[in-house]
Amino acid sequence: QLSTPHIIHPHLHFTSPKGGSHKSSTKDCLSRYESALYRKESPYKPSSYLITKLRKYEKLHKRCGPYTESYNRTVRNLDPDNHDRETSDQACKYLVQIPFDGLGNRILSLASAFLYALLTDRVLLVYDKEGETADLFCEPFPETTWILPQDFPIRNRLENMSQESPECYGNMLMNHSGINSSFVYLHLIYTFDDYDKLFFCDQDQNFIQNVSWVIMKSQFYFAPSLFLIKSFEQELASLFPEKETVFHFLGRYLFHPSNPVWELITRYHRTYLAKSDEKIGIQIRTFHPRFLAAAFNFTTSSLEPVPDTILACLFNNNLLPEININESQTGQKNENSKSVKSVIVTSLTSKYYEKLRDVFWEHSTVTGDEVGVFQPSSEGDQKTGDKKHDRKAWAEIYLLSLTDKLITSPWSTFGYVAQGLGGLRPWILHMPKDEMVPDPPCTRAVSMEPCFHKPVVNGCKMRTAVDDTGALDRYVRACEDASQGLKLV
Ligand code: GDP
Repeated sequence: QLSTPHIIHPHLHFTSPKGGSHKSSTKDCLSRYESALYRKESPYKPSSYLITKLRKYEKLHKRCGPYTESYNRTVRNLDPDNHDRETSDQACKYLVQIPFDGLGNRILSLASAFLYALLTDRVLLVYDKEGETADLFCEPFPETTWILPQDFPIRNRLENMSQESPECYGNMLMNHSGINSSFVYLHLIYTFDDYDKLFFCDQDQNFIQNVSWVIMKSQFYFAPSLFLIKSFEQELASLFPEKETVFHFLGRYLFHPSNPVWELITRYHRTYLAKSDEKIGIQIRTFHPRFLAAAFNFTTSSLEPVPDTILACLFNNNLLPEININESQTGQKNENSKSVKSVIVTSLTSKYYEKLRDVFWEHSTVTGDEVGVFQPSSEGDQKTGDKKHDRKAWAEIYLLSLTDKLITSPWSTFGYVAQGLGGLRPWILHMPKDEMVPDPPCTRAVSMEPCFHKPVVNGCKMRTAVDDTGALDRYVRACEDASQGLKLV
């Protein structure tokens, strides 16, 4: 029954019920139909309001997507010599997303951009410089594309959009220059300043609403800050009665691995994971100390204690059975009740994996359970933009999301995507501060939502009307791994 997606996703209905009408035929996107064979059904149910909203969005995208009559008309507005601007009520409005940073960041900011598009009735188009996005993901919306056309009039300017661009919204506010362009550019990456951040205020949303082309460069999961904008509050509450499901649902709706990535995922799964009784994911991401000090005010010591920290986290939380330290001891359990556990480790380096693998090879477990430790790749460095590298990264994020229990590294969007897609509340490792195993070695996340690392808490106070900060407590909390960050709970 692989051809009728709504049978496989009984209460998700996330693929259009007319699944066959998807421009891509079944074969064009195998993951869309086969994922249910690998994933446990989500314990969460999307609201019927969300489902209706998505179906409405799909219609809008089909009506306004690339090369439709509406698109062709609206795109002409971008031509500075065209004085006959399209302004009818029927006019379509667009959000062009420029991806930035690594894959985890890209996925999270794309999901946030989609949420913003849903809230503002815009059509989301992705600037896909060298076809990276198309290489990794299937088209999410039926009978249309989310890839920005090659001949988009200002395509060659997108790469260089910056805070200094005259169309930059923050820049316009700072210079009181007003809008004299047919588009605005939103600068939502780590260099954004207080003016750029006014995007997250009501008054500014009122203004931006009237612009037909919004171009956004972002790298963050900024969905939590959308909940703090009053005019979106009611709609968001209806869409997501359970707030911690925002990325879980939007991520599962949007990000279906392309066939080559699906091939990597399923082959690995069949070989290393499918036959085990329980799957444990361990994501190990380390950052440069200078970056951590600047971004998260965190000072690391040597990373030597990381493997012992992981073991302590595993054993203290009963994620794996303890090992027999004494070599002559063997597992106690009888053969019949023995269980097989597969541990999938992801990291840019193999050194942590090797230590963990050796521990479970050299020692039996006290329960007699068998523990196999595997790592799909160790790429050495981040090589975003290299298609083969990015495919592996996406496959590994997805494989982590298929586990039963997940340990993640702090501050990593790579891990956030895995936990959100998987519907998993992970155990977040603590990184060593003083050459010792931290106590506790890890903390259970309060929700499966990703963290917005650089939220705007008081940004709107630059405005005369002070926002209702009560919303802060109602929707969000400080992240476990970044006290200045916010996450939905
Ligand atoms: P973050 O930097 O941890 O927030 O995650 P990003 O995904 O945004 O950027 C890190 C990038 O480094 C990834 O996209 C990959 O390209 C690479 N990378 C980091 N950790 C891993 C890993 O465990 N496996 C693989 N294959 N790539 C990784």
